[in-house]
Amino acid sequence: MTERKTVLIRYDEIGLKGRNRKYFEKCLLKNIKRALSGLDDIHYSSPRGRIFLDIPSSIAPKCSASLKAIPGVASFSIGVSMSTDFDAIAALGVQWIEPKLEPVETLKFCVKTRRSEKSFPKTSPEVNFEVGSRIMTALSPRGLTVNIKEAEFVLEIEIGRSETVVFDNRVPGLCGLPVGSSGNVLCLLSGGIDSPVSAFMMACRGCRVHFVFFDNQPFLGRGGYDKVLSLAKKINHFQTRGTLYVVPFEEMQGAIRDHCTEENRVVLYRRMMYRIAEEIANRHGYLALINGESLGQVASQTLENLAAVSCVTPLSVFRPLIGMNKESIITKAKEIGTYEVSIEPQPDCCSVFMPKNPVTRSKIPFLERDEEKIPWEELRDNALAQMEVIKVDDLS
Ligand code: ATP
Ligand code: MG
Repeated sequence: MTERKTVLIRYDEIGLKGRNRKYFEKCLLKNIKRALSGLDDIHYSSPRGRIFLDIPSSIAPKCSASLKAIPGVASFSIGVSMSTDFDAIAALGVQWIEPKLEPVETLKFCVKTRRSEKSFPKTSPEVNFEVGSRIMTALSPRGLTVNIKEAEFVLEIEIGRSETVVFDNRVPGLCGLPVGSSGNVLCLLSGGIDSPVSAFMMACRGCRVHFVFFDNQPFLGRGGYDKVLSLAKKINHFQTRGTLYVVPFEEMQGAIRDHCTEENRVVLYRRMMYRIAEEIANRHGYLALINGESLGQVASQTLENLAAVSCVTPLSVFRPLIGMNKESIITKAKEIGTYEVSIEPQPDCCSVFMPKNPVTRSKIPFLERDEEKIPWEELRDNALAQMEVIKVDDLS
C-alpha cells in the first residue's frame, strides 16, 4: 500500500461571509481541484469550515507548491494519520523538529491538540503535555523550549473518531478570496514592474484577471510582446483561464504624434487605451479596469492626469498600487516572480515619441480639443479589429 498523507487547508476571509459562505467555499474547492488536476489519487472532503485532502506521500511537495499559489487559502498543513500513541506521535515530532534545530541555537515550540472525538479519555491540554514533555525530554538539551505564544514550530494533533492526524508546521497561503468569487476584470498590462503586481492583487481579491497590452511592434520590435506574454503567464498561474488581448497601437500613436499637442501625448495615449479597454470589457462582461498607477510615481501619474485619463470611461477604474511606494511594489514583484521579467530592458509604447516636457497637470478641455484633430473612433475600431486574442492557459 502506498504511504499517504492528510492535508488540512484553512481558508481566510471566507469564514466571515455569513450566508454567502457556501458559495465562497465551493469556489475555493473548485480552484483547488483545478490546480491539482494533474496529480492522481487525491481524495477530497470538506467538513464544516475546512478542506481535507488525502494524498499519496509522493506528491506532497507538488501539492504544497500548488496550494501556495491559490488565492483564498490562508494556510495549510501536511499531516500523517496514525494511532493515538503518545510515544509514536512524539517520535514523529522529534523527527520534524530535529532538522530545524541544526542551524539555530534555540527554537520555541508548542503542541496544540483538537479533539472532535470528545470521548477520548484525555483532554486537549493533557495530550499537549503528554506529547510536549516527551519531545522536550529528547530535544531540550539541543535548545528546544516551550513557548505557546511565540512558537516557531507548532505540532498540531487532531483526534477524531476514526483516526488521529499529526500535522507539521503550518505553511502560509496567499490569503484573500478565491478567484472567480468576485467577477472578471481587465488589467492594462505593460511590460513594467507595476501592472503585474496590481493584477496579482486583484486576483487575491477574488477576480479573474484578463489582460490588455497595447503594442507598437513597428517601432519597438517584438521584445515587449514576448515580455507581456511571459508576465501574463506568471499571473495566470495564480488563477488560470485568463485571456490576453494584444492591441496594435502604432496607428493611434502616429496620429497623436502628427496632429496633437506634443506635451499632451502621453495622457492622450492613455485616454485612448482606456477607450479601447472599455470596448473589450463591455464585449466580455468584465466589470472593471485595473492599472499599475501609483500616485506621483511619474509625471503622468499626478492627481490631475489620473483624473484626465480615467474620466473617459464610465467603468470602474481600480489602481491597487495607488498608495504604495516603489520599494514595496518591487518587494511584491519579487515575491510573485514577475520582477525578473519586468526589469528586462525593453521600452514601453508610451515612451515612443516621448515629449520633452510632458504635461503634469493636464486640462481636459485641451485634451478634448486635441482629440478632435484625429479620427480616434475609427482608429480605435481598426485597432480592435486587428487585435490578437490569446488564451493564456494555452501558452506553453
Ligand atoms: P508599469 O510598471 O506597470 O509599466 P509604470 O510605472 O511604468 O507602470 P506608466 O508607464 O506610466 O507607469 O503606466 C501606467 C499604467 O498604464 C501601467 O501600470 C499600465 O497599467 C498602463 N500601461 C502603460 N503602458 C501600457 C501598455 N503598453 N499596455 C497596457 N497598459 C499600459
Ligand atoms: Mg510602464
